[in-house]
Amino acid sequence: MNPTESSPTSESHRRTLWEITRGQRVRYVAAIVVMAVGTIFLLLVPYILKVTLDAIAEQRAGLRDVLIPAALAIVGCHALHGLFTYLRGRWSAQASEGIIRQLRHELFAHLERLPCSYHDTADTGDLVQRCSSDVETLRVFLSAQIVEIARVSLFLLVAIPIMLWQNLWMSALSLALFPLIITFALLFFRKVRSLFEKVDEAEARMTTTLQENLTGIRVVRAFAQQDHETRKFGGRNDEFRDLEYRLFISLANYWTFSDIIVFAQIGLVLIGGAYYVQQGAISLGTWMLFFWLLRTIIWPVRHFGRVLADAGKASVSIGRIREILAVPPESEEPRPEQPVAGDIEVRNLTFSYGRNQPALRDLSLTIREGETVALLGPPGAGKSTLVNLLVRLYDYGDDSTIRIGGRELKTINRSAVREAFGMVLQDPFLYSKTVRENVMLGHSSAADHEVEESARSADIHDNIVEFEHGYDTMVGERGVTLSGGQRQRLAIARALLKDPQFLVLDDSLSAVDTKTEARIFEALARRRGRHTTILIAHRLSSTRLADRIFVIDHGRLIQEGTHDDLIAADGPYARLWAIQGRLDEEIQHDVAQSSGSGSLS
Ligand code: ADP
Repeated sequence: MNPTESSPTSESHRRTLWEITRGQRVRYVAAIVVMAVGTIFLLLVPYILKVTLDAIAEQRAGLRDVLIPAALAIVGCHALHGLFTYLRGRWSAQASEGIIRQLRHELFAHLERLPCSYHDTADTGDLVQRCSSDVETLRVFLSAQIVEIARVSLFLLVAIPIMLWQNLWMSALSLALFPLIITFALLFFRKVRSLFEKVDEAEARMTTTLQENLTGIRVVRAFAQQDHETRKFGGRNDEFRDLEYRLFISLANYWTFSDIIVFAQIGLVLIGGAYYVQQGAISLGTWMLFFWLLRTIIWPVRHFGRVLADAGKASVSIGRIREILAVPPESEEPRPEQPVAGDIEVRNLTFSYGRNQPALRDLSLTIREGETVALLGPPGAGKSTLVNLLVRLYDYGDDSTIRIGGRELKTINRSAVREAFGMVLQDPFLYSKTVRENVMLGHSSAADHEVEESARSADIHDNIVEFEHGYDTMVGERGVTLSGGQRQRLAIARALLKDPQFLVLDDSLSAVDTKTEARIFEALARRRGRHTTILIAHRLSSTRLADRIFVIDHGRLIQEGTHDDLIAADGPYARLWAIQGRLDEEIQHDVAQSSGSGSLS
C-alpha cells in the first residue's frame, strides 16, 4: 500500500485509539510518568560510573571512599528503576486490561444487537478471529508497546543531550549508525507487514474451515466427505505453516543483520573512544559513560522498529474491529406501554433478502386474535419469511404494512414484539443446561407443576421422567442426547410455558410420528383461544386443526379459507388433499399387506 493510500485510514485509526483509551488515560499518563522517572535513574548509572572512574584515575580520593558510595548509588538507582518499572507495568496492565475488557464487552453486545441480515452474510470464522486475535493484538499493543514508544523517545531525549554535553565527537561516533538501525527496522517491518496480514488471513481461513466442520459434522459424515474435508483442512494448514515459516525466516534475517549493525556501533564507540582517551581528548570516565549510555539505549532503539511494526498491526486490528462496530445495530424503539396483542394485519407485503428475488410478493392477510391459522405451501414458498418479519428479525420496506393490534410493527420495540411470540423452529436450539432450565427459558419463575404441565402438553413429560435425573438431566454435550423429535417437543414445551400471545410452530412437528403429533394437537386444541397460533406445515393433517388456512406459493397468497371451504373449492389445496389422501391409503394398504404376509410366513 502506498503512503497516500494509507494516510486517511491511519488517521482514523489514531482517532479511534484515542477514543478507546477513554477512561484509562490517567493510568496511562501515570505509567508514563513513573517510566520516565525510572529511566532517569537508569541513565544516572553511566554517569555515576564516569564520575567514579575519573575520580579513581585522577586519584582524587581513596579507593574505598570512591567505590563504596558509587556501589551504593548504583544499587540504589537500579532498585529505584526496578520499583518504577514495576509500577509502570502494573498501571499500564490495569489500563490495557480495562480497555480490552470494555472493548470485548462492547463487541459482544454489539454483535448481539446486529440485524439478522448482517449475520446471514457474515463469515463466522472471520468474526471470531476479529473478536479474539485482533483484540489480542490490540491488548499487546496497549499493555506494552504504547509505553515502550514513550520509553524509547525518552531514552533518546535524555541520552542525546548528555552525550552532546560531554563531547561532540564522541556523540557523533555513538549515534553514527542510529539512522541506519532505525531506517533498516522501519523498511523491514513495513515490508513484512503484508506478510503479517497474510498470516492472519491464512489463520482465519483455517479457523473457518475448522469451525464449519465442527458445526456441520453430521452433514460431512452423512455425505462421506471426511477425506475431502481433511484434505481441505490440510491445505489450509499447509498454507498457514508456509506463511509462518516465511515470516520467521524474514524475522531471523532481520535480527541477524540488525545485530551486526548494533555490534558495529558498539565497536565504533569502544575503538574510537580508546583512541580519543589515548589522545587525551576525553577521560577514561567519559569513554565509559558513552559506552554505558549506548549499551542502555541501543537495544530498545533496535527494538523500536518492531514496536512500530506492531503498532501498524494494531492499527490494522483496530480497523477490523471498527468495521464491526460501524455496522448499525437493530433500531431500538421505545417499549410500548400496552402489551403487544391483537389482530395481525399484513398488507401488500413484499420482501427480499438482500438483492435476491422477492421471498414475499404483495402478500395481504389478516390473522384475528386467538385464531389458529395454518400457513401451507411448498418449501421456499415464503412461510418462514413471513414469520421472520412478524418477529422483526428483518425489517420490511415502506411500501408494505404489518400491523399488530392496529400498531405498525416497525414502530414497536423489537424486544416487546419478541416477548409476545413463542417460536418453535424445525431444528430448535437447546442450551447445554438441564431439561428444566431449557424449558424455563422464556419463563424463569415458573413453578415445577407448570413446567410439567407444559411438558405433558408437548407429550415429552413421559420421556423426561425416564431420563436418569428427570428434569435435572443435562442436555447436550455433557448429558443426554435427544432425538430430533424430542428436541422439537422440548421446544414446544418451552413455548407453551412462556404462554405467549402468539404461538408459532414452524414445521416443528416434522420429526415426530403422527400419533404423537395428534396428541400434541389435542393439547393445543384445548388451549384454543389462549394464543393466536400460527402453524407452518407441510403435512395436511396439521392444517385440520386450523380455523383458517393460507396457501402460499412463490411468495404469494394463492388461497385462503377454512379446511371445508378449501376442499370444496377446486384449487391447489383440494388437489393436495386428494393426493395426500391417496398416498395415505396406499401406505396403509402396503402396511396391511406386508403385515399380512408377515403373519403367514
Ligand atoms: P418456506 O418457509 O416456505 O420454506 P422461506 O421463507 O424459508 O420458505 O424461504 C423463502 C425464500 O427466501 C426461499 O427462496 C429461500 O431460499 C429464501 N431465503 C430464506 N431465508 C433466507 C436468508 N436468510 N437469506 C437469503 N434468502 C433466504
